Amino acid sequence: MFGNITLSIIKPDAVKKGYSMSILSQIINEGFNIITLKITELSKKSAIIFYEEHKEKYFFESLIVFMSSGPIISMILKKENAVKDFRILIGDTNPINAKKGTIRNLYATSLEKNAIHGSDSNKNAFKECKFFFPIEKFS
Ligand code: GDP
Repeated sequence: MFGNITLSIIKPDAVKKGYSMSILSQIINEGFNIITLKITELSKKSAIIFYEEHKEKYFFESLIVFMSSGPIISMILKKENAVKDFRILIGDTNPINAKKGTIRNLYATSLEKNAIHGSDSNKNAFKECKFFFPIEKFS
């Protein structure tokens, strides 16, 4: 099952600007099934754990402040080739390079405030789904 799920987060910038419903519609229209979803907020401590792999990067502090700056929507999405297809739907990390019509192209503000997260591998999808949800119940 885990090859078919991915973890997404509508980030604080997009939630604050009122883009949540448009983004959710786009995700559903692309054929993703939202298995579970919650509106939540990351504490600084949780954001540090979630983005641990970036802890040596120059932008880490700023990313943690941003990701804990307000409500987010985290969700598990199911679809064949979920990780790969969702990365295509969200577009490049830097919205300047994101293809027209992708979520980041439409809704991102900057490289950091880029509206949405999508897992980058099946291994990370599993780890990230577990971070937000007790996913054992879906297996
Ligand atoms: P993603 O998998 O496309 O989200 O990209 P990464 O895993 O490389 O980075 C995680 C998040 O850190 C991105 O989605 C951005 O919010 C932020 N980020 C990445 N690169 C930079 C950067 O060079 N500068 C800043 N300020 N933020 C960045």
